[in-house]
Amino acid sequence: MAIIYEPLSGREFPRYSGIKTFFRLPHVAVDADYEVGIVGVPFDGGVSYRPGARFGPSRVRDTSSLGRVFHYGRMEAYTKKIKAADIGDCPTVPIDLQKTYERIQTFFAGALAQGKRLLAVGGDHSVTLPILREMRKKHGRPLAFVHFDAHLDTYPPAWDCDIHHGSFARHAVQEGLVDPKLYHMIGIRGPFTGTNDLDFVTKHGIQVHTIDEIREKGAKSFAAELPDFAQVPTYISFDVDCLDPVYAPGTGAPVPGGLTTYETQQIFRGLRMRNLVGADVVEVSPPYDHAEITTLAAMDTMFEILGLFAAQAT
Ligand code: MN
Ligand code: MN
Repeated sequence: MAIIYEPLSGREFPRYSGIKTFFRLPHVAVDADYEVGIVGVPFDGGVSYRPGARFGPSRVRDTSSLGRVFHYGRMEAYTKKIKAADIGDCPTVPIDLQKTYERIQTFFAGALAQGKRLLAVGGDHSVTLPILREMRKKHGRPLAFVHFDAHLDTYPPAWDCDIHHGSFARHAVQEGLVDPKLYHMIGIRGPFTGTNDLDFVTKHGIQVHTIDEIREKGAKSFAAELPDFAQVPTYISFDVDCLDPVYAPGTGAPVPGGLTTYETQQIFRGLRMRNLVGADVVEVSPPYDHAEITTLAAMDTMFEILGLFAAQAT
């Protein structure tokens, strides 16, 4: 029987009822005929401060029951343009980062081999690195990269561990997974540990857009100046701590003075993606959340990302 890629209707089945999937979309096998797969990556073995992001996917599924399909800015329902589905959670090993990376890479390689576009829900930011490794392999060139974050994530090893959630971006550049000339960081702000924090991004020519730049230009004008990267395969990574802790208290390393949810909506609505191949929303830590504020923000960003996938679909 053909799968219907529409959410369970809230008018037939109340939104608090039913088995939770992302946006109440069908839960399907990795090899089903969907086009955009939404996948949980429940791992927080890379965090340096507050843990809990391992609970992100299941709690975002719960909150996303409130999600709807029609984007009033785009005047379009994403379900009319793309077949989106919940493809479950990627296997992880809670006590082992390397074993988790192997499982993430195997899972994503399988989905990418079938030409799927993917939206991942973390998990801490260390999960982005193995995803980018597989995206790089699949597309045969370094990706354009749009990275929302309060932090640079280009930091050196900590406790003699080279890989953690604050170093994934350095590895992504050093391994040639992303093109530093097509790399935009959005929402960056201090405090830094020192002036040399910026050495890596300066050396590689990564474009750092601070919260000051976005506020001074206004989110809408700021977004209009970002490139569309043409047909270069593009990946978006959204660390919820780019948002002010008022809008995302449930996260691993909150930093005051961040974006509002409305500003992020304006930025997403201004992005012109031509070949978005994957995206993730990471660092949602439900144990530190209140009244679903953070999972709502994560869900809303995922909705904007689904809108970008839909907008570029023929
Ligand atoms: Mn991050
Ligand atoms: Mn961060």
